[in-house]
Amino acid sequence: MTAKPQPQPTPLTEPYWAAASQGKLSLQRCTACAVWHHFPVPRCTSCGSDALTFEPVSGHGTVETFTIVHRSFAPGFTGAPYAMAWIALPEQAGLRVFANVTDCLPETVTIGMKVTVWFEQRGDFALPNFRPA
Ligand SMILES: [Zn+2]
Repeated sequence: MTAKPQPQPTPLTEPYWAAASQGKLSLQRCTACAVWHHFPVPRCTSCGSDALTFEPVSGHGTVETFTIVHRSFAPGFTGAPYAMAWIALPEQAGLRVFANVTDCLPETVTIGMKVTVWFEQRGDFALPNFRPA
């Protein structure tokens, strides 16, 4: 059986993965204008500053939209259906992360569902997933 793929950190995303390995959902934030960014960007898309850092968020969120994957063609993702969602975070309007919704039957996932982050260990990495809050 093929293993699920590992993240491939870049200099831009390495702090995200380092925080995740410590069980923290930490997202990029501009120190000049305080706008959050996800996915990480080399320069702030709001003010143009390159003074960007990573700060932890609460880990609470709301399912904004989702899909249920019944047949995956990605290596390692065979078996039971699973739900993938955009999770809206309360820290900023429009701030979202893309993750699995676990610990419930995929067909019970709904838009507006309150969820909280947890981390799945995969090799040397930990990946954020969300479960019903
Ligand atoms: Zn900025």
